[in-house]
Amino acid sequence: MTITNHITILGAGLIGLSQALVLLQNNFTVTIIDKHIHPDKKIDFNPDVFDMRVLALTPETSAFLQTLEVWGDIVSKRVCPYAHMIVWDGKGSSQITFDALSLGVPILGHIVEQNIIIQALLAKLKYYLDNGQLTWLVKQPIELSRDNPDIIGIKLSDETIIYSRLLVGADGADSWLRSQAGLPVTFKYYEQSAIVATIHCEKNHQNTAYQRFGEGGPLALLPLSDPNKISIVWTQPSQISENLLALIEPEFNHALTQCSENILGNLRLVGVRKSFMLKSLQAQSYGSDRIVLVGDSAHVIHPLAGLGANLGFQDVIALSALLIKQGNNQRDLGSNQLIQRYYRERIAKNEAVRHSMTTLNKLFMSQNPLIKLIRNWGLDKTNGLPKLKKWFAHQAMGLS
Ligand SMILES: Cc1cc2nc3c(=O)[nH]c(=O)nc-3n(C[C@H](O)[C@H](O)[C@H](O)COP(=O)(O)OP(=O)(O)OC[C@H]3O[C@@H](n4cnc5c(N)ncnc54)[C@H](O)[C@@H]3O)c2cc1C
Repeated sequence: MTITNHITILGAGLIGLSQALVLLQNNFTVTIIDKHIHPDKKIDFNPDVFDMRVLALTPETSAFLQTLEVWGDIVSKRVCPYAHMIVWDGKGSSQITFDALSLGVPILGHIVEQNIIIQALLAKLKYYLDNGQLTWLVKQPIELSRDNPDIIGIKLSDETIIYSRLLVGADGADSWLRSQAGLPVTFKYYEQSAIVATIHCEKNHQNTAYQRFGEGGPLALLPLSDPNKISIVWTQPSQISENLLALIEPEFNHALTQCSENILGNLRLVGVRKSFMLKSLQAQSYGSDRIVLVGDSAHVIHPLAGLGANLGFQDVIALSALLIKQGNNQRDLGSNQLIQRYYRERIAKNEAVRHSMTTLNKLFMSQNPLIKLIRNWGLDKTNGLPKLKKWFAHQAMGLS
């Protein structure tokens, strides 16, 4: 079987799905290929159970999800806007606080469960699937086909070949497409893992996001729509993470409460916990010859500021704008000129954020007394300088 369309997207994660939706809304024909995700995937919404994977979304990302007409659906299920953030240095004496009101913005961001976003995107894509503008294949690719320079083909395990003007790699950190295209990467493991879980907190979180930088890595306490529930991202050296995962629940709860310095009282695990090995990755090129990368296939960062997917959504916005313009001018959607332009638009920001995350992680993990002193001094100084604080907050919220 042969399928021909404008654009094929490999990977139906958050970024691939949103990329598909923008293109469909702008009249392109699209094929989505994913090895697992099926468009009829039902993610049952349970009012009592929170997804342990949550994302801190910047106001810029929620505005983008509004333009995709999925934000209303997401909000109708469950989100937690947060207006305050407290970041402190464990065992130090300094902290920095961010407050929406004093920054002149209504909120700092939203904490949203990943499965709610995916469900909203799938529901919207269903319309295009039904009207034939979208083709969806649950398959694995096996090779690329480049017989004709005007199109690119991707061959699947059942011999189906899909031809398009452009092939978008949204297939995550271990991107098959990136390695098939021979695109080199800068890569390193942080030698840390992050445990994620839903947690009951004794004290009301008051729509505040907390981040404690301690020995081994940061602990983020992210507010959920229930005032006594939070989601944690607890980063530790990988071996310590493994030990924490192996603890029986009361011991885990005790260790977590201690690490949080009781800021929200006693913390108690609700449901399962899972850990993710952390890495830093930057593709040295975002594509060429009808292949382009978006999201984690192009860059992966430390989750300490919750910016990874937010950067991916910004990739989608930038690439889509170029493709829509190119389409309107009836120019080639897969030209190297377009791919290079997209790369130039995204690389500086993506690389700056990746470097800042690595530096912050290093800075806060250091036990060197001099660095500790500078760190405490820096937090206090920044906290006392409203303009500098505003600049930092705007960077983190994607408002810069
Ligand atoms: C602990 C942790 C906390 C985080 N917190 C935040 C946060 O608060 N805010 C934030 O913005 N970001 C956060 N991130 C980052 C965020 O999770 C990622 O940036 C985002 O999920 C990447 O989405 P993606 O669609 O690019 O890739 P993925 O979610 O990895 O999706 C890739 C898709 O491609 C498919 N696929 C892969 N290979 C193939 C193949 N060969 N054939 C077919 N299909 C394939 C997969 O099935 C999958 O559906 C966090 C990350 C971690 C680890």
